[in-house]
Amino acid sequence: MFRSLLIANRGEIALRIQRAARSLGIETIAVHSEADREARHVALADKAVCIGPASAARSYLDPAAILLAAEATGAEAVHPGYGFLSENADFAQACETAGLVFVGPPPQAIRVMGDKVAAKCAMRRAGVPCVPGPDEGLPDDPDAVRRVAAEIGYPVILKAAGGGGGRGMRVVDAEAGLLDALALTREEARRAFNNPEIYVEKFLTRPRHVEIQVLADRHGKALWLGSRDCSLQRRHQKVLEEAPAPGLDHALVAEVGARCAEACRQLGYVGAGTFEFLYEDGVFSFIEMNTRVQVEHPITEETTGIDIVREGIRVAAGLPLTIRQEEIVSRGHAFECRINAEDPESFQPSPGTITRFDMPGGPGIRVDTHMVPGARVPPHYDSLIAKIIAYGPTREEALVRLRVALSEARIEGVSTNLALHARILADPGFIAGGVDIHHLERLLKGAD
Ligand code: ADP
Repeated sequence: MFRSLLIANRGEIALRIQRAARSLGIETIAVHSEADREARHVALADKAVCIGPASAARSYLDPAAILLAAEATGAEAVHPGYGFLSENADFAQACETAGLVFVGPPPQAIRVMGDKVAAKCAMRRAGVPCVPGPDEGLPDDPDAVRRVAAEIGYPVILKAAGGGGGRGMRVVDAEAGLLDALALTREEARRAFNNPEIYVEKFLTRPRHVEIQVLADRHGKALWLGSRDCSLQRRHQKVLEEAPAPGLDHALVAEVGARCAEACRQLGYVGAGTFEFLYEDGVFSFIEMNTRVQVEHPITEETTGIDIVREGIRVAAGLPLTIRQEEIVSRGHAFECRINAEDPESFQPSPGTITRFDMPGGPGIRVDTHMVPGARVPPHYDSLIAKIIAYGPTREEALVRLRVALSEARIEGVSTNLALHARILADPGFIAGGVDIHHLERLLKGAD
């Protein structure tokens, strides 16, 4: 095991990684921007280095600054967390070249999964079910493009191979709009991702977002840790998640989970990762893999009892996974509410100083946060300030605990989406379980 770990991130996940590292007896090194000088992950770290000004581009997204901090502090490993440089294959490679252990998959696995066409090919090869459509880019010949789309059947969705973050996609309802939409998407992709490759697949109209957590070591062992449902989204941003995904056929989930683990083995994948699927009419369709720990990992930790972040660090150090697939059981149910500092009407970020911060507790309640009264929410980064997680032996009991927990939470000084969560928890569709990815936006428009 390495002796020191540099955490190239901020916020709740920096603290979460710090806790896992400390539980393994590893020295923790925080890096921070000038705006995060007073942050909790900085105060609690064994060592801390300021790597630049508030702007993320010049601090948390600056590979050179981070590698310099690693060298100066004698760090042996780097954990990228989520966001920032976590899915940057060049950064993972640069860490390895500098002799640092990158806590995550090999650069090549990140590269394959970062190209959506290459990812789809790799998944098909491993027997993971994908959205109908060819696993290659669209040709230039207009007739050939029309033929491909007609074969899939409208509506279709055009997607940039290099796209991400919900950008570089366009839905086409009928052939009349196809070629114009393709030209537009290609041009956007060329500018935004420096990669004009576009592919097409069937557009599913009312899918759920269901994902599978995986964990793999350097010795060819890969495990799947159950499902999560993240269908409650606004503008492709997840708001509230649960594990396991309710109402699914266990045998089907196990079959898809086993395929994901097999795909990890074929890819030489290492660490924690997530396979994201759209689920409609009893069918799973792969959309993308996230090659990092995710915001919503705690709900799977609650239902499986496995510390995903700790295991991710252990496997990065070359230790084998000691758990066997047969021993992994999903017990009970867990929810996570993402508490954001944002305006409840406009959803615009609401930075400022937290004057009151009362967090809930009690059986089954876990709060992952970097906030305390007096802490500042800087305007430069994402607005996630806390994750309220509720576990219960059944979905109903977890929901009851979550409602009580939310009613105890009081945050003042910044606006939050606490009221939005309370509204979701009272919604009959959500209570019944299994809503599609458009449900929350319909609810917000008042159409439900
Ligand atoms: P990104 O990497 O930009 O997040 P994804 O491939 O994960 O892109 O897709 C983002 C979102 O777009 C999905 O969560 C889903 O809401 C929608 N989407 C993507 N592909 C399809 C599809 N084939 N049918 C319907 N919706 C889709």
